[in-house]
Amino acid sequence: MPTAQERAQVLAAEIKKTLLAIKAAEVKVKQLGDELMQTLAAAKVEAEAERTIVEYPTGRYECKKCRHSTLFTEPTEELPACDNCGGREWTGHEPKITKIEPPSPKKYAAGMYECGQCGVRTAVAMDTDELSPCELCGADKLQPL
Ligand SMILES: [Zn+2]
Ligand SMILES: [Zn+2]
Repeated sequence: MPTAQERAQVLAAEIKKTLLAIKAAEVKVKQLGDELMQTLAAAKVEAEAERTIVEYPTGRYECKKCRHSTLFTEPTEELPACDNCGGREWTGHEPKITKIEPPSPKKYAAGMYECGQCGVRTAVAMDTDELSPCELCGADKLQPL
């Protein structure tokens, strides 16, 4: 049977180890949070790009470089290169640009949130109208960080 003094030493060592683990976990959470913010910025760019549709109508186009004339029979997002010179700029028709209306903004933006009650941090991956309660304490007090 170890003495109380020995047990105290073991516990102290255990506490030290756990605190170090907490520190490491905090650093990790911060890194993941930064990564999340970058990824969310990329998601925004992606959503933005999806909202603009460019379409060139069918018809006869003339190559800007060599004046070679080509008939395109399919509407296309991007005109192919000129058969004659490989040029990619054409005259003849303007592309039709369709803008899709963005969905109405949500109340809470995706990002890192902190519980107003217990202080635990949580990541919200998508914009939302309703934040879920804190996973740790159940309080409905998430605040954006
Ligand atoms: Zn050409
Ligand atoms: Zn909480």
